[in-house]
Amino acid sequence: MNAAVSEIVGHYVGGRPVAGVSNRFGDIYNPATGKVVRTVALASADEARAAIANASQAFPDWAQMPPARRVQVLYRYRELLIKNIDEMAALLSSEHGKTVDDAKGSITRGLEVVEFACGIPQMLKGEFSEGVANGVDSWSMRQPLGVVAGITPFNFPAMVPMWMFPVAIACGNTFILKPSERDPSCAGFMARLMTEAGLPDGVLNVVNGDKEAVDVLLSDPTVQAVSFVGSTTVGEYIYQTGCAHGKRVQALCGAKNHMVVMPDADMGQVVDAIMGAAYGSAGERCMAISVIVAVGDDTADRMMEQLVPRIETLKVGAYDQEGVEMGPVITPDARDRIKGYIDRGVEEGAELVVDGRGVAVPGYESGCFVGATIFDQVTPQMDIYRDEIFGPVLSVVRVSSYEEALKLVNDHEYGNGTAIFTRDGDAARDFGHRAQIGMVGVNVPIPVPLAFHSFGGWKRSLFGDHYMHGPEGVRFYTRMKTVTSRWPSGIKEGAVFNFKAGGEH
Ligand code: NAD
Repeated sequence: MNAAVSEIVGHYVGGRPVAGVSNRFGDIYNPATGKVVRTVALASADEARAAIANASQAFPDWAQMPPARRVQVLYRYRELLIKNIDEMAALLSSEHGKTVDDAKGSITRGLEVVEFACGIPQMLKGEFSEGVANGVDSWSMRQPLGVVAGITPFNFPAMVPMWMFPVAIACGNTFILKPSERDPSCAGFMARLMTEAGLPDGVLNVVNGDKEAVDVLLSDPTVQAVSFVGSTTVGEYIYQTGCAHGKRVQALCGAKNHMVVMPDADMGQVVDAIMGAAYGSAGERCMAISVIVAVGDDTADRMMEQLVPRIETLKVGAYDQEGVEMGPVITPDARDRIKGYIDRGVEEGAELVVDGRGVAVPGYESGCFVGATIFDQVTPQMDIYRDEIFGPVLSVVRVSSYEEALKLVNDHEYGNGTAIFTRDGDAARDFGHRAQIGMVGVNVPIPVPLAFHSFGGWKRSLFGDHYMHGPEGVRFYTRMKTVTSRWPSGIKEGAVFNFKAGGEH
């Protein structure tokens, strides 16, 4: 623990804040200053088990509560979140580093999932077939799983947890959230608001921690399902370990999102789109565009001519400075890792057109800043093309045809998001149809589905069968039951239900 820092972020279990007792701590930085601002208690296995016990105890009553009553809590939570959005955005920015506008935008996207979850009762109503045989009716319903857990990444400390817990809770589950240890404070903030909104104790718990807590969530038999969002290496481990323990697991993972620029694209629109999609949130977004595939040298040249001056003048600074367009990255380690990738790109022979390594923000000399960076003449063999850098580093690959561009998109190991910019309907339609990617944009750089659709990628960007939120989220957090019921009426003479009549069962 950093001796100079006194504030410790604890857990939230059973409807109240709980101090950690493991005596293990993680540092939380203000990324703009590069200084540790507080620490987070890292749960021991026993502390994680205590949270599971709380959630398990709360489950029967919560699951019994009529769905329409359960979501009343979410209606109230929505109002509280709107009332407190400024405070929460400031807290988020102070630990994550993204600009306050970005932080508010991400909270709003989370709110949209809360709004979706308020309507979940109608999705639980099931199906009914009257008279599947004489005097026999059959209906199906979706029931909650029990205690479920969510393990979330640093880059959206409010939105990603809200992809999970409002849906899980509306479906009647109780929830344990294990947020990123790098920016954990929003999780406790949201849990407190849920209690204020009337959520019974133990329905939503926050356990801060690292692998020790996660391993308990993956192996404890009480936990029925695990939702994960984070890197592919960790996600694959979560998926395999959780499945080996008989759990339902969805693991949304890393990405390398390509944007294909066709010769007929509106170049002004392309450049605006790239600036937001590549450098928004300092590129720390799983839907960030990190590769531009320009079809034709002329397309690439025209694009670079407009794009490079915009990148060179992008205003980098602390989240609360006036006019700042891009904040720092999350930690000093992340900054050094990203700069290491820029070094690597130079070694690999890519053309470094704008170099963000030397960016200086007056007054924030030790901040975790990396300036907006762009490489041209990148090839698919280079590490900067293959790896997810997760920072403000954009690669431009030049190809000579649409087919070559599509092949690049499809050959990459990740399949989260992609976009094509074109005015050609045929090309757009073909791309939507043939791209081996979960979320596809046509003249839309970050095609994030709204809350009533579902979010998820293909290939090594997602392990499991279900996407998050929307109808897929409800399916993930519930299981189907079908009841077949026979009430032969005395009035109807001869009402017989005989399975053998329709074949052996
Ligand atoms: P990460 O994988 O390091 O951490 C994610 C979570 O896993 C955290 O809660 C962390 O504490 C936990 N964790 C880390 N190492 C672990 C281990 N060895 N065992 C068990 N648990 C462990 O990811 P991150 O750096 O916080 O987030 C960035 C990554 O998340 C990027 O790869 C990004 O693409 C991805 N991401 C994906 C999506 C998506 O929807 N596909 C959305 C957001 C972020």
